[in-house]
Amino acid sequence: MGSPANFAVYTAVVEPHGRIMGLDLPDGGHMTHGFMTEKKKISATSIFFESMPYKVNPDTGYIDYDRLQENAKLFHPRLIIAGTSCYSRNLDYERLRLIANENGAYLMGDMAHIGGLVAAGVVPSPFEYCDIITTTTHKTLRGCRAGLIFFRKGVRSVDAKGKETLYNLESLINQAVFNGLQGGPHNHAIAGIAVALKQAMTPEFKAYQVQVLVNCKSLSSGLIDHGYKIVTGGSDNHLILLDLRTKGTDGGRAENVLEACAISCNKKTCPGDTNALRPSGLRFGSPALTSRGMMQEDFKKVADFIHRGIELTLEIQGSLDPEAPLKEFITALWQGEKFQQRVSEIKAEVEAFAGKFPMPGLPEL
Ligand SMILES: *Cc1c(COP(=O)(O)O)cnc(C)c1O
Repeated sequence: MGSPANFAVYTAVVEPHGRIMGLDLPDGGHMTHGFMTEKKKISATSIFFESMPYKVNPDTGYIDYDRLQENAKLFHPRLIIAGTSCYSRNLDYERLRLIANENGAYLMGDMAHIGGLVAAGVVPSPFEYCDIITTTTHKTLRGCRAGLIFFRKGVRSVDAKGKETLYNLESLINQAVFNGLQGGPHNHAIAGIAVALKQAMTPEFKAYQVQVLVNCKSLSSGLIDHGYKIVTGGSDNHLILLDLRTKGTDGGRAENVLEACAISCNKKTCPGDTNALRPSGLRFGSPALTSRGMMQEDFKKVADFIHRGIELTLEIQGSLDPEAPLKEFITALWQGEKFQQRVSEIKAEVEAFAGKFPMPGLPEL
């Protein structure tokens, strides 16, 4: 439900076919930030507005702010989005604010992924710099599936003569939501959000988010110790992107094997990937297992399991023609008796390990 929240903001402050800049989807942005390909406008944002992406530096994996600044001067966006779905580093909100100011653009923070980390104060807050902030409530904020929009009131700017310009975001955004895009209030979602936000104010929630960061670093260093490359070399937040190019496999193949081994993750493009249909990376996050009560030592074990799944991926791949398509790989995974044996061994160990950690909401066995 973060997607409709974003669309409501665009409807409120960007005129039809007005210009929006957000981090490109293959670089870790979200679809709603305006994703399109050479052939097709995928996101409604790119259908009803004009979107120009900014990108990460393919060598470092960090956002290329210099290039964004240059392109913004040419594109004159009405809105710049500071937000990510797959980026393991803190954003430079101050720099983004500066770039927005240079272009008279609004800066919208989309903290969907990091909302809980921001609420707990364990990562830098976008609130200081952004005009508008959207978030989902079901990711790190750990609530029901819903979205929130925050906006500024008061003075937006003061010109050289001391004349003040005020924000008028309140009526624009409220009207975009109702009755621009929504009918009656979603009371079930409002109640769920209230519960999530109340929990987010507790010391337990803060302790949880601190542990989410510690665990993510532990997972990251565990994988690095096994010889893997992590995009940007580590993480400031709750997620990492594992780059499998140096290992000679890719996200799609590894995801299938890990899934079969009861390890949940998803394939994702890495900076510089040329074939969007064969993403090189895997995205992992620490929040869910941290909710189960896992600590940093446990995440070393998680890294070991992931490593074993990827080793198996390489073995399966080695048994096939190097050009074999993904479909053939999946057939080999599920029909090769030897491989199924290995999958069931790893899966049994993963489940025995995970089973030791209680599932919130379920009675302990
Ligand atoms: C998840 C996400 C959203 C919204 O997703 P929904 O599935 O519509 O809730 C928006 N922006 C970012 C950056 C996200 O990661």
